[in-house]
Amino acid sequence: MKHNFGAGPGILPHEVLKQAAEAVVNFNGIGLSVLEISHRSSEFEAVLDEAVKLVKELFSVPDGYSVLFLQGGASTQFAMVPYNLLPQTGKAAYVESGVWANKALKEAKYFGEVEVIATSKESNFTYIPKDYSVPSDAAYLHLTSNNTIYGTQLHEFPASSVPVICDMSSDIFSRKVNVADFGLIYAGAQKNMGPAGVTLVIIKDDILGKADRKIPAMFNYQTQIEGGSMYNTPPVFAILVSMLTLRWLKAKGGVEAIEKENDAKAAALYTEIDRNPLFKGVSAVEDRSKMNVCFVVENPEHEKPFLKLCDEKGIVGIKGHRSVGGFRASIYNALPITSVHVLIETMQEFVEKNK
Ligand code: PMP
Repeated sequence: MKHNFGAGPGILPHEVLKQAAEAVVNFNGIGLSVLEISHRSSEFEAVLDEAVKLVKELFSVPDGYSVLFLQGGASTQFAMVPYNLLPQTGKAAYVESGVWANKALKEAKYFGEVEVIATSKESNFTYIPKDYSVPSDAAYLHLTSNNTIYGTQLHEFPASSVPVICDMSSDIFSRKVNVADFGLIYAGAQKNMGPAGVTLVIIKDDILGKADRKIPAMFNYQTQIEGGSMYNTPPVFAILVSMLTLRWLKAKGGVEAIEKENDAKAAALYTEIDRNPLFKGVSAVEDRSKMNVCFVVENPEHEKPFLKLCDEKGIVGIKGHRSVGGFRASIYNALPITSVHVLIETMQEFVEKNK
């Protein structure tokens, strides 16, 4: 077995993969594959219902919110959010904390005025911008809770008098979040919640209906809510695997339990990065992500040999994003702490070899 530190699509629990494989051949013992039954069959409806129920339970979603499983990835949400929520004569406030936030705000410009109220672009997004005030006349505030490429994370969400929309693609279900503080949460499933091909949207129903424009059915949250995520054929397999992953999370003790594990994994790895003379962290210490740990070698000549040693130890997916360089260890929910220990031991062995 490999130690999978890939940034996404990321590691899934092994038992979930086994259950998913079985469902492809013979789903729940019905003699058919989950891939060859109607999405309106009672068997699949039970999957979708359970997935919605698990999201509500794991995140304590209050009344007045809808849970959707949509297609098109988080990138489609970059457009769907302003399409549905930004009035033509209105404006939206964006915090630019990374490339994904930048892509989100670029899409919003197709629909109305965008005010970038804070950015950390000048430092290649090594920190989370914090000193800003949210204009009270904005239709919403858009945030990115975890910046996958740069290894920064919002540890405290800002106060806002306007609805907060948050891209949680790379830290959904990794920690407790008070859903009532948000107007809309979205996340591509493929890092912490399931496979690529489905996007979770948790939306407060009463923020809808305020953008004065016609919206085609597939892009309209209202249609999707009314259709129960089945306005058209949903991504059945991706929803099944997400549901199985959420079941796995519940059985582990839910978000509270996984948050403790995630804290322990991140603390162990950052401690080694800070202690080890050959490596150093990339992002501002107070904004360090507990999901994507970015670090570099002090001596660039060490980069290749370290990657080679990692490869020998079965450590995969650790090369940093091309815009940051160095290394990125993604330590998503399904990555066991034993894999983090293997990485730490490998860093220590590397020091010994390079004395
Ligand atoms: N937002 C964040 C924070 C991401 O990490 C990613 C994917 N890496 C995206 C958005 C884009 O997601 P998708 O590929 O599902 O469109």
